[in-house]
Amino acid sequence: MQFMELVENSFFNGLLEFGLLTLAIYAASLAVLFVTGSVISKLNLRHPDRKIQQRQPSIREIDDIKSSVRQLVVTSLCLSAGLFSQYQGWVLIEPVELSWWSFPLFFLISVLLHDTWFYWGHRLLHTKTFYRFHSPHHRSVTPTVWSNDAGHAVDTLFAHSYYALIVFILPIPALALLAHRLFDQISAAVGHCGYEHFASFTARKPWPLLCTVFHDQHHQYFLYNYGNYFSVWDRLLGTVHPTYDTRVKEFERIYPGKNGG
Ligand SMILES: [Zn+2]
Ligand SMILES: [Zn+2]
Repeated sequence: MQFMELVENSFFNGLLEFGLLTLAIYAASLAVLFVTGSVISKLNLRHPDRKIQQRQPSIREIDDIKSSVRQLVVTSLCLSAGLFSQYQGWVLIEPVELSWWSFPLFFLISVLLHDTWFYWGHRLLHTKTFYRFHSPHHRSVTPTVWSNDAGHAVDTLFAHSYYALIVFILPIPALALLAHRLFDQISAAVGHCGYEHFASFTARKPWPLLCTVFHDQHHQYFLYNYGNYFSVWDRLLGTVHPTYDTRVKEFERIYPGKNGG
């Protein structure tokens, strides 16, 4: 009897801890959504010449915001499940200790792995079988800073179940995984914002980085630019949009100090 009580207590304590962790991550995600969205919106207003597409967004901002607020619940559950599993020691490899070298190293490894996960998951979402889960996200042909997390729960799971699973095989310190998710959320908001503020030579051939035009073209043309943080997989598999590098160059020219912009 006493043993059963002990098991029940530890089960409910674990459930409570998991719930609280998820709530904290969700609250932080909402704060990041609204702070990033507001800051980038102000930046966009200040630079109308940096608008990527001339057509106006077809989706009302409020609908994208409502959808993002819902989908962040799924993302928070994934990240919380990963961190909780690691904390409970259910993972195959214990995380390495947090240090000046382990943080940047595992942050970088995680970003690289997630880019590969995202590219192939995204290709799968564009197949006949799975596109129905991805089509709500593609209702935005002209994405805005609020389109970032908008979509179907299965679509969100394709991208963000990574956070629940990677901890089982990668000994990433928890703080590095949290930093990766923060970077992911902010870079996705920038990637959907509809204005090009970050064009540079590092975002075009032969460099692996990308800028907002990259994912904006994915929303415009559907069958190009599937990557998340890098253009590497798209370049290797020939799925970079043919005008991408030229468009980046054009935006570089409009910045102050560059050819009289
Ligand atoms: Zn897509
Ligand atoms: Zn998108």
